Amino acid sequence: MRSCVVRFVVPSIALLVACGSEPVALDEGPEPILYDTPNFLIVDEAGVPAAVIDSLSEALEMEWERVGAFFAEFILPDRITFILRAGDGSPFVTVGENSMSQWASTLALNYIPHQLAHLWTRYTRRPFLEEGIAVYVTEFLMPENRDVHPYRGQVPHAWVALFELNGSTLSLFSAYRARNFVFSFAGSSQDALAWQVFIEAGSFTRWVIDTFGRDVWFELFRSDDLGGTLGGSTAELEDAWFRTVREAYPNQLSCEEALGTVGSREVFWCSRARGQ
Ligand SMILES: [Zn+2]
Repeated sequence: MRSCVVRFVVPSIALLVACGSEPVALDEGPEPILYDTPNFLIVDEAGVPAAVIDSLSEALEMEWERVGAFFAEFILPDRITFILRAGDGSPFVTVGENSMSQWASTLALNYIPHQLAHLWTRYTRRPFLEEGIAVYVTEFLMPENRDVHPYRGQVPHAWVALFELNGSTLSLFSAYRARNFVFSFAGSSQDALAWQVFIEAGSFTRWVIDTFGRDVWFELFRSDDLGGTLGGSTAELEDAWFRTVREAYPNQLSCEEALGTVGSREVFWCSRARGQ
């Protein structure tokens, strides 16, 4: 059976989408401890304390309800398996197995909505749309949160307003077609570029939903027809989107200030934000 793995790295939040013919097997190791919750099978490979399982279960069920309500017209094929792995690494989603994985040393409950969004939509569309809706859902459900990758310190609209101020915004034409959403703390210009596409995908999704409504966004998701669905050329849509974010966030933080609020290490982003 064909399987797709969607991976994003904590703390470096790189994202990888890989599809192949081999299903991803659980790691070899001690017998995992299994926990049942109404909508999840939790596979604890790390042997964490019961209190961790309790808070994890509570967060999973709460976000299952909230994310599921957002994706009401989508149907999950089955109960979700949540694998809690030993060590640290990247939360990832294995769509073909309807599973999501996180790591005991870097357990990130704030990532659950993002991961669940990928399981609900099954990652069937272009990355700009899939990542855009996952980032949007996180912002929608946790509007006060400023510590969620890939937007750190300020929301995607504010970041795009900063790109606009610095003349470093990626065009909608380019961002929409971007294939590379993988980035890491290696901090190359490619890493920074991939991060910026993530930000723009989230901001664009919010703009479409705020402007045209949720149903129109899902029409775009299904049709992949940007101009036909939203009624304008790519350049016209880009102009309206960027104007909205500039007007909404005239006093956005600088890159260093935004990252400083969350003690972030992603300083390599700042040269990209300045268009360097
Ligand atoms: Zn993602």
